[in-house]
Amino acid sequence: DSFSESGLPDEVLECCKAFDKPSPIQSHSWPFLLDGRDLIGIAATGSGKTLAFGIPAIRHVLNKRKSNASEKVYPRCLVLSPTRELAQQISDVLCDAGKPSGVRSVCIYGGTSKGPQISTLKAGVDIVIGTPGRLKDLIEMGVCRLNEVSFVVLDEADRMLDMGFEPEVRSILRQTCSVRQMVMFSATWPPPVHQLAQEFMDPNPVKV
Ligand code: AMP
Repeated sequence: DSFSESGLPDEVLECCKAFDKPSPIQSHSWPFLLDGRDLIGIAATGSGKTLAFGIPAIRHVLNKRKSNASEKVYPRCLVLSPTRELAQQISDVLCDAGKPSGVRSVCIYGGTSKGPQISTLKAGVDIVIGTPGRLKDLIEMGVCRLNEVSFVVLDEADRMLDMGFEPEVRSILRQTCSVRQMVMFSATWPPPVHQLAQEFMDPNPVKV
């Protein structure tokens, strides 16, 4: 119930300095996510869920960081979000949270030119936050390589499937590393979401 209890380095917790203590979703999720478990969460926006998965995502990147700093960096974490607005909110939080430790994020969404998103990907990013349609486009163009992604978050999974993104979500998930940690947040738990979790997640995910 305190930030120091998490055992996370100061540079990772810098973004929490303004908060008194972890929110309930954070204190329930962090021990499992930092331990490498898959997790399913039912949490509303406003609960602090972005940092509930964001801090473990940043720690995941730091753990995987190559000793050879001159090597090209490929994304290690992927966050899929149903809408551009949500993706941007998550990206703002993660860009900020990653700054002290040098963890770079990019936000990929449609309805805007691809050029700047491609340049950022080419420069090397650690975390990709995106909406399924544009992300699939960039993967097919060969400018977004996800085969080193070993930490995946599906945010608002029910909404993403309601919006018809299921084929894109599946195709994107298949591009990621087969050994991966996965987090799914959903407000409801209809059969298609359940099916997706069964197919792509550990058979015994933690539920919070
Ligand atoms: P989210 O659910 O991730 O959209 O977060 C909602 C709001 O809660 C954001 O404005 C965060 O800055 C804030 N927040 C995140 N973690 C905490 C915390 N541990 N204590 C207080 N507020 C927090």
